[in-house]
Amino acid sequence: MPKKITILGSTGSIGENTLDLVSYAGPDIFDVVCLTANSNAQKLADQALKFRPEFVVLADPKNADVLKNALNGSGIKIGIGTDDLKEAGAWPADFIMAAIIGAAGLEPTLAAVSQGKYVGLANKECLVCAGALFIDAVKRSGTVLLPVDSEHNAIFQVLNQERYSEVNKLILTASGGPFRTLSMDEMQNITRAQALSHPVWEMGAKITIDSATLMNKGLELIEASYLFNRPPEDIDIVIHPQSIIHSMVSYIDGTVLAQMGEPDMRTPIAYAMAWPERMATPVKSLDLASVGKLEFHEPNLELFPALTLARDTLTLGGAAPTVLNAANEIAVAGFLAEKLSFLGISRCVDKVLNSFISEQSFTKPLEMLSEVNDYDARARARALETIKLID
Ligand code: NDP
Repeated sequence: MPKKITILGSTGSIGENTLDLVSYAGPDIFDVVCLTANSNAQKLADQALKFRPEFVVLADPKNADVLKNALNGSGIKIGIGTDDLKEAGAWPADFIMAAIIGAAGLEPTLAAVSQGKYVGLANKECLVCAGALFIDAVKRSGTVLLPVDSEHNAIFQVLNQERYSEVNKLILTASGGPFRTLSMDEMQNITRAQALSHPVWEMGAKITIDSATLMNKGLELIEASYLFNRPPEDIDIVIHPQSIIHSMVSYIDGTVLAQMGEPDMRTPIAYAMAWPERMATPVKSLDLASVGKLEFHEPNLELFPALTLARDTLTLGGAAPTVLNAANEIAVAGFLAEKLSFLGISRCVDKVLNSFISEQSFTKPLEMLSEVNDYDARARARALETIKLID
């Protein structure tokens, strides 16, 4: 029987790569049962007509008519809005790819987790804004969580979970983004187009900007801490511009195990889709002689304050990572809308975090989803105000 697969966020970069692998493997291996998008109704309709899922959902009702007209007579069930998005997460499937961008992915992914099956986790924001709550839900449901972020997938592949006490450190690699060699002066006038042009990875707009500020690595640090149950001091970050080593695990005897491959997201996606087996992919195999050299550098924390902000929020705990994530989402949207400078992104996040520090409950563990949503909403509102005041 083919594996029934749902893709939450099928119209995005991870979603399209997942569908590419579904096509590559063929209908005997995967059967798409559910697809979702936010507002890109035409792309969702095209995917639905090609892959014939049982259910499709558009989160934003604005373009509902486009979807309904395109799928008229197809027999495919259509859902509109955020409640239906949660229903998509809970739609019976063997494997769910969680690839919605941002905190919007949290509730549908929790619905997917409630099925107690296999979830490929691309959406790092789930763990950043609701880390302990999310991991509790995974444990309670018996879900097998398969990390898709290339760094976490790499660690998952080389981590000996059964002999965990022998692990010394997790080492996340970072390409460093397009600006790693610039001076502070040169960083003053970075444009949207420059920031959207990543030297190695092809990704959606938000994560591409996060990669340029290194906030992406900060979010991944938080993600790794929750996924692998390690405190921040056990997780190092090293800049590796070639992005051939996707991350490493250092053991107490001095051994370091690394996972390598071409920088192509279809490898970690395929690993999650086929787990515990491996599947063939169209990704070209790694030719180290043509890569030539692999470089490693310390990250420059002065130029990229987002890394320190993320590490600090992980140490603070409670709602701090939730606020960091929400403020960053608004700041990145502000930069993309050309209302905030590139350096303003981290400044905005820093100011929003500081505005919460005096609240007593800020660093208390979040026990309810409503608390996560409350901090998320308040941080977004403060970030919108902050954008108007800086730059
Ligand atoms: P994209 O921006 O390319 O796609 C995001 C997807 O989520 C789209 O299907 C989009 O729909 C949908 N979406 C956006 N906003 C909402 C919303 N409010 N409600 C419901 N659906 C929404 O993102 P990526 O594919 O780049 O990233 C997805 C996740 O994977 C992110 O969390 C990212 O950090 C993570 N990730 C991505 C990597 C990559 O290579 N791209 C690598 C590692 C991790 P629509 O098209 O209609 O807007």
